Amino acid sequence: MTDCLFCKIVSGDVPAKVVRSSDRALAFRDINPQAPTHVLVIPKDHHPTVGELAAADAELLAEVLREAHEVAADEGIAGTGYRVVFNTGAQAGQTVFHVHAHVLGGRGLNWPPG
Ligand code: C5P
Repeated sequence: MTDCLFCKIVSGDVPAKVVRSSDRALAFRDINPQAPTHVLVIPKDHHPTVGELAAADAELLAEVLREAHEVAADEGIAGTGYRVVFNTGAQAGQTVFHVHAHVLGGRGLNWPPG
């Protein structure tokens, strides 16, 4: 999608600090980190929200989740604990409508989230 920021990261037109890349998913550091580890995992194909991705391509959603766990393992937080968050919709704080999993960890994380 030509006007999508994360599609431009996939194509290399917008720079990002990439930490993992698989056939169909890309992981890069969040530009405004909220925790010592804050990485976004996205499908390389454009899907606006996690619900739409689940309906269109459940195997691709599974790949995003596998990559999220691999990011946590690479960052050394798979054992201590980490959080995977899909903000979905404007009221939940979604600002980029190309689905992305936030992988957060490296500090204590409060519950419930704000
Ligand atoms: O869940 P939400 O849509 O709000 O998350 C978008 C995330 O994308 C934000 O955490 C923001 O910091 C991040 N971002 C980024 N690189 C950009 C633009 C936004 O990492 N160039």
